[in-house]
Amino acid sequence: MPTLRLHLAALCAAFVANTASAQQSRADLVLLHGDLFTVDSQHPRAQAVAVRGDRIAAVGSDAEIQGWVGPRTRVIDLRGRLAIPGFIDGHGHYTALGESKLVLDLTKARTWDDIVVQVRDAAAAAKPGTLIEGRGWHQEKWTHAPAPNVEGVPLHASLDAVSARNPVVLEHASGHASFVNGAALRLAGVGRETPNPAGGEIVKDSSGEPTGLLKESAQSLIGRARAKLPHLTKQEEEARFRKIVQLAGDDALSKGVTSFHDAGSSFATIDGFKQLAREGKLPVRLYVMVRFESDSTLDAKLDGYLHAIGDRANREVLDTYQRIFRDNADAHDLRWRIEHAQHIDPLDVPRFKALGVIASMQGVHTISDGPWVAKRLGEERARRTSYPWRSLLDAGAVVTNGTDTPVEDVDPIMSFYGSVTRKTREGVVFVPEQRVTRDEGLRAYTLNNAYAAFEEKEKGSLTPGKLADIVVLSKNIMTAPEDDIPSARVDLTILGGKVRYERRTTTTAAREAAPRAP
Ligand SMILES: [Zn+2]
Repeated sequence: MPTLRLHLAALCAAFVANTASAQQSRADLVLLHGDLFTVDSQHPRAQAVAVRGDRIAAVGSDAEIQGWVGPRTRVIDLRGRLAIPGFIDGHGHYTALGESKLVLDLTKARTWDDIVVQVRDAAAAAKPGTLIEGRGWHQEKWTHAPAPNVEGVPLHASLDAVSARNPVVLEHASGHASFVNGAALRLAGVGRETPNPAGGEIVKDSSGEPTGLLKESAQSLIGRARAKLPHLTKQEEEARFRKIVQLAGDDALSKGVTSFHDAGSSFATIDGFKQLAREGKLPVRLYVMVRFESDSTLDAKLDGYLHAIGDRANREVLDTYQRIFRDNADAHDLRWRIEHAQHIDPLDVPRFKALGVIASMQGVHTISDGPWVAKRLGEERARRTSYPWRSLLDAGAVVTNGTDTPVEDVDPIMSFYGSVTRKTREGVVFVPEQRVTRDEGLRAYTLNNAYAAFEEKEKGSLTPGKLADIVVLSKNIMTAPEDDIPSARVDLTILGGKVRYERRTTTTAAREAAPRAP
């Protein structure tokens, strides 16, 4: 497998020529007076960048880039702020992120009672009989266990008390379980006698009564309840799809995410993405892995979908069905990935480099899981195997970062912070020897993700010729004291040379409110 460094060397030679021939023309957009961390090893730091159309035209000092300013150029004064390549989320669930915006957000709850209050308010506002949905609860994030509880999770009676007539379905943060109320259990026909489906569990209390917790495949029983509720028309489905795509995109752009690896979607969903891409309505660049399809469907359809590789806005590639690639002579060029490469035996670490397998990781999990990993795995095993970022990088592996959103917030800054500090919310540094440098952390969120999607010639660094996907932050996460990193905000997200998100600060609001000069 060709290494990242070889690709970069080739790129840089090409871009010198590119820049020189374009020098006569003016830029559409210029960012001046910044502190640029380019993730381009040939020119790692700069002050300014010029953009023409959707591409980066030049990167350099203020003096060099001034020459690109013409009468129609939009000039943004960065006032010393950090500018970096647009973040690429290396692993998330795009439609689920959008859907999570349509349901109760349970991720911030500190106790089960907080969630009961959210459901109570939703039930008060809902039409009787309609479904109330939420997602993102996690019993490990509550300050204390609810009473009574089974396995740390409450009984459905606590929800029945606030929502007797509306079925309630609350999905766990992991997606591996759901908690439902009595009305939902009745609609689904789940009772004491209902057997566990294969690969799932209907959790029951000591008297044999379902508690409301449905694990793994037992969640499919909720489908029986949904089937009895009014269905959306085809038009309503279509409108809903467009809405969730937009909601996910708005959230991503506001957090500086310009590209997103979706892990993954069905062919039908991909068709929906492609339609929006044709209409120019896809808010961020998507790279989609195929999921929820049988092997026979994949065999029949995969060729047709791989043809979409040339489409920058929406490239689909399959990375999980290795069976299809097994007989392929070029298999080593396929950049196989292991998603959630979280717990790895040290003996296996060097195999990532040897096999050319990319470790797709989520730095933010270090922060959220750190407090309880040792409880589950034991101290010694947690230290030896958990999120071995440093070991993988030292072994020469390509490591990518992402959030697994909506399991976690799509915010790259916290995931970056997790990879460079490994500091939990309680301030404990979880296996400190596995921290990475900030340069490595930024690279994992930009160029390495571009590489994992075969796009390192198109994006991932501020390099002339690449797509002008640029993020400006309120604080310099590359140089600020460690504890300041989480409070950094995205001030500006530029995608393909267009400002797609601008944070309203008191300064921008005042400027907009000021009367125009006569
Ligand atoms: Zn995932």
